Amino acid sequence: MDLSYSPEEHAFQREVRGWLARNMPKREPDERPLDFHDPRRIARGKGWQRKLYEAGYVAMGWPRDYGGQGADVMRQTIVNEEMVRARAPGLIGLMGIQMVGPTLIAHGTEQQRRRHLPPILTAEEIWCQGYSEPGSGSDLASLRTRAELRGDEFVVNGQKVWTSNAQFADWIFCLVRTDPDAPKHRGISYLLIDMKSPGITVRPLVQMTGDAGFNEVFFEDVRVPRANLVGGLNDGWTIANATLFHERNMLGSTTRTQQVLQGLLRLARTHGRAGRPASADPAIRRRLADLAIRVETMKLEAYRQLTDTLRGRSPGIAASVSKLVTTELNHDLAEAALDILGSYGPLARGNRRARDGGTWPVDFMFTLGLIIGGGTSQIQKNIIAERGLAMPRELRA
Ligand SMILES: Cc1cc2nc3c(=O)[nH]c(=O)nc-3n(C[C@H](O)[C@H](O)[C@H](O)COP(=O)(O)OP(=O)(O)OC[C@H]3O[C@@H](n4cnc5c(N)ncnc54)[C@H](O)[C@@H]3O)c2cc1C
Repeated sequence: MDLSYSPEEHAFQREVRGWLARNMPKREPDERPLDFHDPRRIARGKGWQRKLYEAGYVAMGWPRDYGGQGADVMRQTIVNEEMVRARAPGLIGLMGIQMVGPTLIAHGTEQQRRRHLPPILTAEEIWCQGYSEPGSGSDLASLRTRAELRGDEFVVNGQKVWTSNAQFADWIFCLVRTDPDAPKHRGISYLLIDMKSPGITVRPLVQMTGDAGFNEVFFEDVRVPRANLVGGLNDGWTIANATLFHERNMLGSTTRTQQVLQGLLRLARTHGRAGRPASADPAIRRRLADLAIRVETMKLEAYRQLTDTLRGRSPGIAASVSKLVTTELNHDLAEAALDILGSYGPLARGNRRARDGGTWPVDFMFTLGLIIGGGTSQIQKNIIAERGLAMPRELRA
């Protein structure tokens, strides 16, 4: 692993740093991670992604034919690092950029790539993920949403649940059962569905954070052109897993984690306990040091994975390891903040005594959800054990 930048990469780093200093939008002090029911925030998020894209900083590695730059992975890494450093807002269209986009590049038809990739980059079209159903979460292959092929179109009936962002998404990548008689992993297909199609109903679900980050999505005789099938008919499980791999990489990214650690350290230096900053307390210092080491370890793990990518080596179970460790780390960071704040910890947005706009208690609840979404910690441990450590497979019903 080589951690140094070449002279060209250093020059690019300076360019990105300068651009961010000139262009970064002002962040709301109490901005909540899931608060996307506010149309102004959606418009701001789209505007920011578009600006980053126009500057050439979004999905830089995507092929030029589809709006990317074919850049090497180091350039995107530099952009990501500079965004952490500047505490820049993230991208609103992450599910498009980090999940369905790479899946279409690998498995989509030429027509699907040309149609969908450019508006994903510019945030003109936002995507959501239609995998989970009532009764089908960890055991995803048991899903029952049915798609019947009639002539040149599928007719979809069923229900998805926990669908993040569905209330403002333009498209959904969706797993549907196309052969109910086949063994459960072999009768599934992967469809791209326009959320404006007649027969789709979205019902937001309010979470313990108080925000409606995810939704129920109902399909009633929804007609989907056959051309929106990704991969082969009944071959959706392979494609679904390709997207899941990208999702775990996204959730395992330390970009947000590093920003949160910075915020936690600021809090510990400025929040008083018994007349001294919390950071002067030896027990808190030890806990902060432990968290900072864990964050640094995951940053180095990301560099290790980057080296593997640059050398063309298979990532193996790396995405599951990052997802497992980073999502739990994010939750531990928020928990440390609440402990530092003591009785101020639960004070939420709107309370004049709340610290950092009351974001810490929301973050504590939000990060718990990320341990579950994208496959729970237990499921990641199963994958690591079975596929990484070659341990015996668990007994399944
Ligand atoms: C914040 C958030 C956002 C989400 N966004 C989306 C989205 O956009 N699209 C989407 O499709 N889904 C989404 N989900 C759903 C998510 O993928 C599921 O919640 C998750 O896969 C777990 O499924 P479940 O909730 O049905 O729990 P269950 O599968 O019922 O699991 C219940 C418990 O049993 C454990 N368990 C289950 N099976 C095993 C096993 N084999 N071995 C050991 N332990 C096991 C689990 O770890 C868990 O603790 C989201 C979830 C959250 C929390």
